[in-house]
Amino acid sequence: MQHALAERDAVARYPDEVRPYIVIGRAFLENRISALELDAVYCEWFTRDETCSQHRVRDALERRHTGDLDALIAAAKDALQSDDIVLVGFSRSCGIAMLRGARGEPDPVVSVAGEREGWTHHRDRGGRSEHRAACVAHSRLGTPAPRRRCGGAGNSGCATGRSRVVTAIETDYLVIGAGAAGMSFVDALIDADHDCDVVMVDRRHAPGGHWNDAYPFVQLHQAAACYGVNSRALGTDHLDERGLNAGLYQRANGVQICDYFRHVLDEHHMRSGQVRFFPMSNYLGLDTAEVAFVAALTGATTEVKVRRAIVDARYLEPTIPSRHIPSFAVDTDVRCVSVNELPDVTEPASGYTIVGGGKTGSDACTWLLENGVDPDNIRWVRARDAWMWNRAHVQPLDLVSDTIDGVARCVEASAEADSIDDLFTRLEAGDQLLRLDTRVAPTMYHGATVTVAELDLLRTIENVVRLGHVKTIRADEIVLERGSIPTDRRQLHVDCSAAGLGKAPARRIFEPGRITLQCISTVFPAFNAAVIGYLEGSRGDDEVAKSRLSPTNRYPDAAEDWIPNMRGQLASLDLWNAEPDMTTWLESSRLNIARGMFEKANEPQMADAITRLITYTEPALANLESLNAATA
Ligand SMILES: Cc1cc2nc3c(=O)[nH]c(=O)nc-3n(C[C@H](O)[C@H](O)[C@H](O)COP(=O)(O)OP(=O)(O)OC[C@H]3O[C@@H](n4cnc5c(N)ncnc54)[C@H](O)[C@@H]3O)c2cc1C
Repeated sequence: MQHALAERDAVARYPDEVRPYIVIGRAFLENRISALELDAVYCEWFTRDETCSQHRVRDALERRHTGDLDALIAAAKDALQSDDIVLVGFSRSCGIAMLRGARGEPDPVVSVAGEREGWTHHRDRGGRSEHRAACVAHSRLGTPAPRRRCGGAGNSGCATGRSRVVTAIETDYLVIGAGAAGMSFVDALIDADHDCDVVMVDRRHAPGGHWNDAYPFVQLHQAAACYGVNSRALGTDHLDERGLNAGLYQRANGVQICDYFRHVLDEHHMRSGQVRFFPMSNYLGLDTAEVAFVAALTGATTEVKVRRAIVDARYLEPTIPSRHIPSFAVDTDVRCVSVNELPDVTEPASGYTIVGGGKTGSDACTWLLENGVDPDNIRWVRARDAWMWNRAHVQPLDLVSDTIDGVARCVEASAEADSIDDLFTRLEAGDQLLRLDTRVAPTMYHGATVTVAELDLLRTIENVVRLGHVKTIRADEIVLERGSIPTDRRQLHVDCSAAGLGKAPARRIFEPGRITLQCISTVFPAFNAAVIGYLEGSRGDDEVAKSRLSPTNRYPDAAEDWIPNMRGQLASLDLWNAEPDMTTWLESSRLNIARGMFEKANEPQMADAITRLITYTEPALANLESLNAATA
């Protein structure tokens, strides 16, 4: 039996407690792309279930990727250790299908076929975008699915059905992803190793990764002076004179960041003669026998012989608003837009409901307020509150003493706190961590920075809804996990619920034939990628040294993740400070926020901060370990 459901119906039918689920794409089924390309989509769904093992599933799918639906289902069942899997299809750009493990759920949803084999598509009447078309295939998995294969043999079929064009190339490093992480890694690598050859591929049309699709008013939350790559400055390293960031180093907006990465690619990477870049190209999958990518526009396949390593520079790819499927249902006659569409508004709304308590939600609220919307006309749905860094203590160059002083305060608090609550009390009292509402204990920490002036502005919004995640938006009410609130047809609902940071579990950064870019030290991906590039370029085949110097420090998510994250930062610094060439490199790296601290070592504020750092680092490491154990 074949059902056709709109997306919201499918979501309503498989509520939160149903898990786990996987998203795969029709292009995957048709053998054009790998499961890993779709992380950004399925992460969204997984984030609502902290316990499910999305990446175990993904690894299994990658390893067994054949483009064959039967094999995929077998791999999914295996990884989920369940036969009870439900497959729901969503169509967007190249088409996405979603496999959901519906534990014990008797619903008979089963197999899926490509559009041309009879998917039934529904334009979502909520009108969120044309991506919203959704379809659900039929009955329980286990029935072999109709499928279509095209192109030649092997894993890399083509989208068009014409015979594929295959080119073979060789390189030392194949870098998948030309976002900030990939660009920064390559920059540091080719500066440390002038002989290596690098091929970069990205499915986007230009370098810069997610910044190419960011919402129009996006900005870095940190200083531009220490973002990007090592070899080129981003912006002018000036302080802002006015506005919410006054007195601190300027940030950069999305357009500036994209323009920057294009210049880096042309004027550094390509000019070096060491780098070839293939935009609009999908890499077919890690751990497959065939290492290849396919040009999206022509279907031509390039097979790559990699002499040293495949570099996974998309492992922590963030989920961003423009490519995210909200986890809540939206009724047909509701005004609901993604944050990217907010500046397209042409007529005033009766009010603005912002869904999402993270950085994107804060950005949307700030933007509305700065554009004259009365705070009483803004309602902010925050399922979780966040701890944020005080940006005044995350500043490079001339303000680095404030930063090191801030680190010293964190280390001191870490050494002396006798409980997790006490730790956060000390960090707040020490002016390091800030929160929007001092009456609410935050449960989230993503490492975002904020200024006190921004917080003061955001605090003018008094209508804050804390009833959990939104489940459905209807014409007259919003249904949340713990209750509902009224709404109306003229209200504009703004989806700011994309997860932001990638949530992949930590894995070894250096493995034989593979480098997976992740954080080692701070939560600044560009800096970490540069360190890894430098280690690869300078340590060559010394796998032991590379691994020793790059313990993975996972992105934080929950508030208490601050503890292992800070511990990881301190431990990495200890390791690096024992390597003379690393300290020289760090002192010259514009991405290193602490650069210049030793030059200022004789200035009173810096001297005092360094003394406290020396005194408290060891006790802090030990105490953070105990506090971390208490969270387990
Ligand atoms: C709103 C916002 C603000 C932020 N502000 C800051 C900040 O101030 N400071 C900071 O340090 N961080 C910030 N971040 C974090 C930010 O995500 C990182 O700085 C960085 O941009 C992430 O880069 P990335 O290379 O890991 O991911 P991406 O930019 O997503 O790049 C990954 C690339 O891999 C490509 N790709 C994926 N799969 C494939 C495949 N199969 N084949 C080919 N290509 C593929 C994708 O197309 C993409 O271009 C912010 C994030 C957001 C969302």
